[in-house]
Amino acid sequence: MPQEAHVYSYSAVLMGSPILLKLFQHNEHLAHQVFRLIKHYENLLTVNRSPSEVMNINYAAGQHPVVVNPAVYQLIKCAKAASMLPNSAFNLAIGPLVKRWKIGFQGSSVPPAEDITALLALTDPGQVILDDAQHSVFLTRPGMEIDLGAIAKGYIADRVRDFLHSQQVFQGLINLGGNVQTLGGASLASGAAWSVGLKKPFAGPDELIGVIEVNGKSVVTSGTYERWFEFEGKHYHHILDPRTGYPLDNALHSVTIISQDSIDGDIWTTLIYGMGVEQGCACLANKPGIEAIFVTKDRKVVLSSQQLFTFTLQDPSYQLSLGCL
Ligand code: FAD
Ligand code: MG
Repeated sequence: MPQEAHVYSYSAVLMGSPILLKLFQHNEHLAHQVFRLIKHYENLLTVNRSPSEVMNINYAAGQHPVVVNPAVYQLIKCAKAASMLPNSAFNLAIGPLVKRWKIGFQGSSVPPAEDITALLALTDPGQVILDDAQHSVFLTRPGMEIDLGAIAKGYIADRVRDFLHSQQVFQGLINLGGNVQTLGGASLASGAAWSVGLKKPFAGPDELIGVIEVNGKSVVTSGTYERWFEFEGKHYHHILDPRTGYPLDNALHSVTIISQDSIDGDIWTTLIYGMGVEQGCACLANKPGIEAIFVTKDRKVVLSSQQLFTFTLQDPSYQLSLGCL
């Protein structure tokens, strides 16, 4: 029988999230380099403190364009493209509403309806003006704010993968607080798949609905149960509907996307979350590289297709549907 390789785990807290790196070699220097790389991108992209390139853009809203680093520019361009899709639930200009609701941060509250209406007027992604030649970004109205919270962790997970490849590391796993990117399989000997738990909503951290197995793929989950607060018996979570200004409200507790690149997983969790099961399934039927696992509030687990992963249900109180029928 082939001998199993030992997995070495390294952890940190960055971007307000627990970060986990798994390697098949004990290499603290490499782990340190990975965490430094994540910190580098956090410093460019954060909107939780100054300075950062994104904060510089936000501060200049209504005043002047800001030239940014090419990587930041490309990420913003990609986020804008997702935001401009017809009826998109993804909006990179959602910042004023995120800041007002403060969901997941201290002081979260339900804003008065008139505040929501006023802030919605500042979230038009078409008013994020990009200049490819200059690599500049201009928010045309004062008060506009870019927020890359729904895409940046996916982008960074891919950069970590690329960095590890450049260091001749082709097996490992990076988990950026729910944004998982795997390199190769989970065993040097057998090439076995990595197991990624599908969390049970509002349960303990180790309580799983089931296990997703992947090899060299990204697994990203967005859900109603990670960052939320309750007010007068109503639950408010952090994925806002850019069409209403309120948290997205549909039959879903979570959407998990399995894909090659984690940036796609991050974008598509939000897009598909906004579509719901039926429309989401119809949309993914034409996207072979993007697969989804929907968890509904009435305890159904729906798999859009299963070319990129396998799923094993562990919690018998959930009902599994194979394929979007
Ligand atoms: P996703 O579902 O992928 O995205 C939800 C997040 O995207 C929301 O939290 C909001 O920021 C934004 N958003 C909401 N609605 C939409 C929408 N319709 N379209 C587009 N975006 C939307 N957290 C901390 O607590 N402290 C920190 O210091 C901190 N720093 C961070 C720095 C960086 C660079 C990044 C990327 C994140 C940081 N975070 C921090 C976490 C951040 O605030 C979000 O909670 C996190 O990115 C959400 O990721 P997710 O995968 O859980 O959610
Ligand atoms: Mg996301």
